[in-house]
Amino acid sequence: MYTSLEHYINGNWVKPSGDKSQDVMNPATSKPIGQLGHVSRGDLDNTLAAADNGFKQWRKVSAFERGKILRKAADLVRARTDEIAKVLTQEQGKVLMEAKLEVASAADIIDWYAGEGQRAYGRVIPARADGVRNLVIMEPIGPVAGFSPWNFPVTQAVRKVAASLAAGCSIIIKCPEETPGSPIGLVRCFHDAGLPAGVLNLVYGVPAEISEYLIPHPVIRKVSFTGSVPVGKHLNALAASHMKRATMELGGHSPVLVFDDADVAGAAKMMGAFKYRNAGQVCISPTRFFVHEKVYDDFVGRFVDIAKRTKVGDGLEPDTRMGPLANPRRINAIEAFVADAEEKGAKVEAGGKRIGNQGNFFEPTVLTDVPDTARIMNEEPFGPVAVMLRFKETDEMLERANKLPYGLASYAFTKDAKTAGKVADALESGMVTINHMGLALPETPFGGVKDSGFGHEGGTEGLQVYMQAKFVSHLG
Ligand code: NAD
Repeated sequence: MYTSLEHYINGNWVKPSGDKSQDVMNPATSKPIGQLGHVSRGDLDNTLAAADNGFKQWRKVSAFERGKILRKAADLVRARTDEIAKVLTQEQGKVLMEAKLEVASAADIIDWYAGEGQRAYGRVIPARADGVRNLVIMEPIGPVAGFSPWNFPVTQAVRKVAASLAAGCSIIIKCPEETPGSPIGLVRCFHDAGLPAGVLNLVYGVPAEISEYLIPHPVIRKVSFTGSVPVGKHLNALAASHMKRATMELGGHSPVLVFDDADVAGAAKMMGAFKYRNAGQVCISPTRFFVHEKVYDDFVGRFVDIAKRTKVGDGLEPDTRMGPLANPRRINAIEAFVADAEEKGAKVEAGGKRIGNQGNFFEPTVLTDVPDTARIMNEEPFGPVAVMLRFKETDEMLERANKLPYGLASYAFTKDAKTAGKVADALESGMVTINHMGLALPETPFGGVKDSGFGHEGGTEGLQVYMQAKFVSHLG
């Protein structure tokens, strides 16, 4: 299905010279669809030299000119949406419509950063002496090492790429080996838009070998990782020991608060669709549903109905609403979460089982009566499982919602402005959205607190993480 799976180094599409390679699988069929070569140490050295030179050139290109190239890349992404989305569905599993939306939103992200790069203003600080000018100048931080995951292979990569390029940085991005084709399609758009050689580089290989070589390397000035909490902690420690700045977009375990005055039908419809989007493999996926006892039965009944009606299948089939999990590891993980919860007394109200033995299909699942000691109450499930919990007292429920070390996204449904204000203040999470799905737009900051990481992607904040302030004081 792939035309080729090449790496992109110093402006050239190359066959990597590593001695290992791996099969790329279609998660809907469990059949190989391509062979991905791994980068060698020598290739990485070439990539680092390219990123170093690329940065020296690119930082001198005006933000205005950089913006023109980025906008051209965005136009190419739009024109190639269908082509890239089809590859994305076949290698990752998500429903084709979701894949198209992901690629379309990548184009919007590039466009937004093209403009934001031109607004990377510094400041002038009033001086204490006549003739002195105190300037704060925003400079690009330098070559970036980016590591993006397989759940949104296009948008997770483009958030790092577009923001670093708009800031004037060069970037080496290691995209997910499981889903290499769609990031290649994305990077081709930058290449074809006329991005100078070395500014953007794309490699694949053994993640730990690449991160352990790139992060400490003196050329690299900034690290950006999206993935699991344990890997994020490890990479952040590595970056810190080499005094590299880092952005960490890690996992979540999102609470959803449904109050007794909420639009219960609307909340169930919105959250039911969102829970099973990308088969729940979303870091901001709603997982712990705290539902007020007065509306619990109504909400859970509606949600279970949605779960049972969600048609699971190959993402290329037009009537599929949820595709397979991206890899067999996720099936094993979700089976273990459900078995552990059941053992501890949970009830399976919908789903709970793997479907067939070809493709990584799992039923959209709803659990009730889950005790706090169940693993799923404490670890990110990263799959199509919703946990329903009853509450009566708001303060006690907020304490439970905040109990976990995660703090990425939270959702609440209430018609009362005072309650909305209270939960917005009290929730320990980087993002809170109330009565609608208002997260993850190009212009809004996306990021977590606590173990969910730090730094932002999206919004003005997402550009700033690739810049540093230089203070210049000038007399005369
Ligand atoms: P994992 O922890 O092995 O890998 C997660 C991601 O990190 C993958 O993209 C992987 O290629 C990368 N990675 C792993 N070790 C690395 C290293 N030493 N250096 C650089 N990159 C490295 O887990 P997995 O089985 O691939 O994914 C499952 C877990 O990952 C989920 O439970 C979820 O918590 C997390 N995850 C989170 C996101 C997110 O959007 N925050 C995305 C994908 C996966």
